This record gives sequence, structure tokens and C-alpha cells, in this order.
Amino acid sequence: RVAARGRGLTKTYGGGEATVVALDDVDVDIAEGRFTAVMGPSGSGKSTLMHCLAGLDTVTRGQVWVGGTEITGLGDRALTKLRRDEIGFVFQSFNLLPTLTARENITLPMDIAGRRPDPQWLETVIDTLRLRDRLGHRPSQLSGGQQQRVACARALASRPRLVFADEPTGNLDSRSGLELLRFLRRAVDELGQTVVMVTHDPRAAAHSDLVLFLADGRIVDEMPDPSAEAVL
Ligand code: ADP
Ligand code: ADP
Repeated sequence: RVAARGRGLTKTYGGGEATVVALDDVDVDIAEGRFTAVMGPSGSGKSTLMHCLAGLDTVTRGQVWVGGTEITGLGDRALTKLRRDEIGFVFQSFNLLPTLTARENITLPMDIAGRRPDPQWLETVIDTLRLRDRLGHRPSQLSGGQQQRVACARALASRPRLVFADEPTGNLDSRSGLELLRFLRRAVDELGQTVVMVTHDPRAAAHSDLVLFLADGRIVDEMPDPSAEAVL
């Protein structure tokens, strides 16, 4: 089974002499219930690929499916509903709302959708990400690492089938990073969630089942069952 699929994904920015090809005819299958890491140099198209697969950005050419649904060409309303019901996204820049507390940020997507979180799961997310004593703080009162953990909690709180995380350990110390990676691993192994994670860190990638390597907007290599040494 495939959680997300892309065929002939091409994304260009700008036009004329200034055209940037961020994705160049990419075919990709994200296997359901697996943990996929995406690596590659800065500017190789990792974020663009994640945004296009998650329906946060449109492709210039090509087709994207999430689950069995083709999302290319879906209207805004249908796309919003699908993202809300199926997808969690951890943004590289966190995208937390500054006027809300950590707890309010975490539950906001569910509040908007009129859904109640599974209380036990929500507590597990909060404790695993060590946010218990920061729930009443606003983002400006939190360190970068704490904001990143709030962004992860928000993406995981509704237990979406498909989780995208753009460098989720980038601002974390090694202990917090390891805890988050183990938690993502658990979400995959115990809950059958599908996780796609961009990372620069071979040790983080080693927690995945498959590493996709991007360069110049193409998938140039893939490595199943990676070890940190092999990724290096
Ligand atoms: P990565 O995540 O691997 O660093 P990105 O997907 O962010 O790469 O970017 C891929 C390419 O697309 C880069 O050359 C980047 O400069 C360009 N790019 C990304 N977003 C935009 C944008 N909004 N406008 C113009 N160019 C962009
Ligand atoms: P983390 O490992 O979570 O990134 P840091 O090492 O950045 O935490 O920060 C250590 C402590 O300093 C945090 O527990 C936090 O309470 C406090 N702190 C860091 N940055 C800020 C900030 N901008 N505003 C308030 N407190 C902060």
C-alpha cells in the first residue's frame, strides 16, 4: 500500500532566465506504515517535495495521490479537508501562532475541525515531547527547541495517517532529538502511521526504513534499512 504517490512531479519557480527547477520529473512512492527519510544538499528540493506531497503547494506538472485520492486538481475546500483529516505537517519554521499558548497551538487544528483529541494520546504526546511544564507559555516564551517540539506535538496530536516533518530535530539537542526520533519510530511501529522526514543528520536518518537522496530536484539514490555509517 502507498500512503502518498507522485508521478512526473515538476515544480518550477519564476520564469524566463530566472526559472528555478525545484523538482525535475520526480516519481516517488511513500509506503504506508513506513518511516522514510529525505536527504540531500540545501536547495535540492526536499521541502518542495514534502509540500507538494502534502498538498500544501501545487506542482507545475505531474500528479500527486494521497491514499487513493488524486489531489492534483482538487478544489481548495476538498484539499483542506483532506489535509485536516489525513496529514500532519511539521514546518521547518514551526508556524506557531504567537498569540496562543503551547497547548492552544497543539490542539488548534483539531479545534478548527471540531474534533476532540483522544485525551490519553494527547497526554502521551505532551509527555514524550517534554512539554508538560510549558503548556501555558506562548511561542516567544519558549526556546527554539521547545517551539520545535510544540510544532511536532501539533502535527501528531490528531494521530494523522501521514506525517511530514521538515528537519524536526534541527533545533533540538541530542537527547530531545533522540526522543523525538524514537517517538516517530513508535508512531510507525505501534500505530501504523506513515512518516516522511527531511533531515541533514545521518544519525537521524538511521532511524528510518528508507532514505531517499535528492540532488538538483531529482531522486538520485535510495537506501533501505540505513545505518548512520552507511548514510555518511
Ligand atoms: P531544500 O528543501 O532541499 O533546501 P527547497 O525545496 O527549499 O530545497 O528548494 C529547492 C529550490 O527551489 C531551491 O533552488 C530554492 O531556492 C527554490 N525555491 C524554493 N521555494 C521557492 C520560492 N518560493 N520561490 C522561488 N524559488 C524557490
Ligand atoms: P531546548 O533544549 O529546549 O532548546 P534551550 O537549551 O534552548 O532549550 O534553553 C534552555 C532553557 O532556557 C529552556 O528550558 C527555556 O526555558 C529557556 N529559554 C531559552 N530560550 C528562551 C526564550 N527565548 N525565552 C524564554 N526562555 C527561554
